[in-house]
Amino acid sequence: MKLFAIFGDPVEHSRSPLMHNSVFKNLNYPACYTRIHLKDGSKLRETFLSLKLSGANITVPHKEAAYEACDEVRGFAKTVGVVNTIINEGGKLIGYNTDADGFMYAIKEFGDIKKILVLGAGGTAKALASRFVQDNIEVTVLNRSASRLEYFKDIVSTCHTWDSFKAEKYDLVVNTTSAGLKDEELPAPLHIIEEALENTSYAADAIYGKVTPFLKLAQEKGITYKDGADMLLGQGVLGNELFTNNELKTEDIKTYMSKSFEL
Ligand code: NDP
Repeated sequence: MKLFAIFGDPVEHSRSPLMHNSVFKNLNYPACYTRIHLKDGSKLRETFLSLKLSGANITVPHKEAAYEACDEVRGFAKTVGVVNTIINEGGKLIGYNTDADGFMYAIKEFGDIKKILVLGAGGTAKALASRFVQDNIEVTVLNRSASRLEYFKDIVSTCHTWDSFKAEKYDLVVNTTSAGLKDEELPAPLHIIEEALENTSYAADAIYGKVTPFLKLAQEKGITYKDGADMLLGQGVLGNELFTNNELKTEDIKTYMSKSFEL
């Protein structure tokens, strides 16, 4: 029996245990998935190894610490320095990032997106912004504090803190901050979010399972919006393929993960 887990702080909101256990149970895969409340990201590696985990997901705020915890990082995670999935390969921790592809899957229905405003500059923002740039999308990043914007300066068209921001016309505004996750805060002061949403076609939030204050505002303005559930599903399917070493059919994984959303 393999054991998998999600590390985060907070972590009790995470639907990942339900999603992965639904796949394991229905497809008779000998594995179990639990959640671990980890406050100190520097303890990730020793906790992972002491629990003899076969793999893990990492959520807020430890994705950058997870990159440091790995022996080797592969694919897109290497480009962005952010890891949300770790696989135990014979005692070595191998890091991956499935968030960005999960998000691209989620916004497929919005059609041709050419210009995006990313709210936030944490691990998720890094992964998404870098992926957007790869797809030739024009990206602006807006964050509360300046220090985290350093990473984005050479990558995206423009980045701002709240003081220097002036909204333009965007196809999509996406909230990657944790504002609204455990509180009722907006990702930036009200007048800034209102301005940003003024001329946008779509809004998306990485947070799932609730209509955040950001999405409520989009709703009030009649903007087509979605929460992070499809992103969660997209990254979850890719993560499960890594956990099970591609032994299960992608369509079956998707079916049973989607079913867990009804629980
Ligand atoms: P990080 O901790 O790496 O980054 C958090 C970001 O949010 C920072 O830019 C921080 O700004 C900003 N922030 C936090 N609180 C506030 C606030 N009150 N007002 C304005 N800005 C704020 O987090 P992650 O990138 O790992 O995760 C971000 C969110 O995305 C979480 O809610 C997570 O649950 C969600 N998520 C969902 C996924 C899905 O599958 N649906 C996948 C991945 C993430 P500052 O730099 O100023 O501190």
